[in-house]
Amino acid sequence: MNKTIAVIRGDGIGPEIVNEALKVLDKIAEQYGHAFACEDVDMGGVAIDKWGDPLPQAMLDKCLAADSVLLGAVGGPKWEGLPGPQRPEKGLLRLRAGMGLYSNLRPAKLWPQLADASPLKPSIVEKGIDFLVVRELISGIYFGEHKTVEQNGEQVATDVMRYAEHEIERIGRIAFETAMKRRKKVTCVDKANVLDSSRLWRAVLHRVKEDYPEVEYGEMFVDNASMQLVKDPSQFDVIVTGNMFGDILSDEASMLTGTIGMIPSSSLGDGTRGMYEPIHGSAPDIAGQNKANPIGTILSAAMMLKYSFGLDVEAAAIEAAVDKALNDGLRTADCMADGCRLVSCSEMGDAIAARI
Ligand code: NAD
Repeated sequence: MNKTIAVIRGDGIGPEIVNEALKVLDKIAEQYGHAFACEDVDMGGVAIDKWGDPLPQAMLDKCLAADSVLLGAVGGPKWEGLPGPQRPEKGLLRLRAGMGLYSNLRPAKLWPQLADASPLKPSIVEKGIDFLVVRELISGIYFGEHKTVEQNGEQVATDVMRYAEHEIERIGRIAFETAMKRRKKVTCVDKANVLDSSRLWRAVLHRVKEDYPEVEYGEMFVDNASMQLVKDPSQFDVIVTGNMFGDILSDEASMLTGTIGMIPSSSLGDGTRGMYEPIHGSAPDIAGQNKANPIGTILSAAMMLKYSFGLDVEAAAIEAAVDKALNDGLRTADCMADGCRLVSCSEMGDAIAARI
């Protein structure tokens, strides 16, 4: 199979972790007879420094021309003082919107080898953690109107949370379709006791659920959901939620599984072209030190093979190699435990590639 991958290394630890994912993809290409051509794309702080824009149109065009996009992370303290539209994260928002990627799937699965790294009590962890957050990605409060005005001698800021029925319906369908391939349970997480937009979510999802009679459907307020995630995460299979709630809950979910460094994500729209990235940020505190955990990015590459290229066997080979490396006691600093061997970011990439 010949595929073109737009590769966005980005900022902070981005280049380090992406290198390891490419190492693993090279090994897959070699072993299974595929050719992955990589096109470098500047986005985020690096693009601001080079082009004065977090995502120049020519870079977006490269992503649109590729079969899929692999991203490290963008952002960092250097660019934090810039006005909103010029910040690195704006590049990411524009990329998602430009590619029409409205759904973000974030699996939260505890690797048994890392059970000790979970901050939850063993009695809770024992029940198993294996759920998936389906987050709406290109609407809601992050894409509504933002403004700050002077009123009665003080600054007043407003951010608008807006959802249209079709935006809820398409993400709802992804959640139900995903649940059909899993344990057939969907929980809508919202704030319907306060927000009109949440009440619309519920009304639309009630319609969608009629097409999936086998799926058990429930609703939960986001404040309760954040508690239930730490009290009994085993109750969840697929959580479907809006952009901001999904952003927050998926970070909470990642901590339950031990480390944010292990979790991949996929962002998809209507076609097979997607964008794949670990859920963490650019970790400026450890950037350039070769100690980041590359597994979230490596597993993101595995998701790309599976969801965009239909290479299920190759994706499973990557997951199995990660499993073997963990079984062999290799750990990066973020999930180091007694009796394990501390390895660097590049050593972890080498170890996983060698186990394919
Ligand atoms: P972060 O995820 O970058 O870091 C949070 C903590 O987790 C840090 O202590 C970091 O060292 C650690 N961490 C994260 N990834 C790790 C990994 N792979 N291995 C080991 N440790 C890891 O979140 P933050 O500090 O809130 O944000 C830093 C920058 O990243 C900000 O500029 C933010 O805007 C940006 N950001 C980008 C994305 C993205 O590109 N998709 C997502 C979130 C945050």
